[in-house]
Amino acid sequence: MLVYLNNGLLPEADAKISVFDHGFLYGDGIYETLRVYNKKVFLIDEHIRRLKRSASLIGLTVPKTDEDIKKIVALTLDANGLREAYVRITISRGEGPIGLDPALCKAPTFVVIANEFKNYPEEYYRDGIAIMVPEVRRNHRAALNPQIKSQNFLNNILAKIEAKAAGAYEAVMLNTDGFLAEGTISNIFFLKDGALCTPAVECGILDGITRALVLDLATKTGIKVREGFYRLEELTASSEVFLTNSTMEVMPVSRINNTPLNPGAITSKLRSLYKQAVSG
Ligand code: PLP
Repeated sequence: MLVYLNNGLLPEADAKISVFDHGFLYGDGIYETLRVYNKKVFLIDEHIRRLKRSASLIGLTVPKTDEDIKKIVALTLDANGLREAYVRITISRGEGPIGLDPALCKAPTFVVIANEFKNYPEEYYRDGIAIMVPEVRRNHRAALNPQIKSQNFLNNILAKIEAKAAGAYEAVMLNTDGFLAEGTISNIFFLKDGALCTPAVECGILDGITRALVLDLATKTGIKVREGFYRLEELTASSEVFLTNSTMEVMPVSRINNTPLNPGAITSKLRSLYKQAVSG
């Protein structure tokens, strides 16, 4: 595999960064994960916009223009001969002496990794996946705003550890006030009184690009949508629950803690509308 590091492509084995990189030392950096369908990068403008927002929220200068980023992503995909792929763009604060001050780092480290996308097992979409609600809460947005898609992922990793121990595929965290927030790498949706509900950004979540598209597709097809503050009981009482992200797309949930659920008609409708948006 060839990896783009700072100014050019390198074989994977040579694409190395310094142990003094503040991304490694402090998790000081940001990233985006994108999906490529048939060589076309899906919603790249939205991902670049969010990358720049994350950068701005941590006072980091993106070292490339939007056009440069698009060219580099295309180059990396091409160099690896990829058609169905995922791309990860990472920008860390860069190399600098020990110490938290970002000014210690002269230049950000810029990395693009592109790899073949292996489909999730078909049964995940047919039967749904198990989720659980972990003890760990989503970090408060006044402490570390989840809208910063940062390399600092320990909050999510702690939740993932709980999910694995419980035999669940994904952990969906509550916020510090006990309202539903989001998964470790996904947003959550559920049906309530005929409306499609999802936690509001104010609950302290990443405003997923897939989430936005699903809200748009649902609205256009006449499904009522609501963004709000919801309790776990509203989720477990729901007839249909699904998760979204750029690689999972629309994935049904078959169990929440010990409550079983069946994938439903609205979820499969939205999944097929999402597929149409991808191929359109
Ligand atoms: N929430 C978190 C914490 C995430 O890490 C992700 C994506 O990785 C999402 C939500 C979904 O975001 P998107 O739909 O933009 O992929």
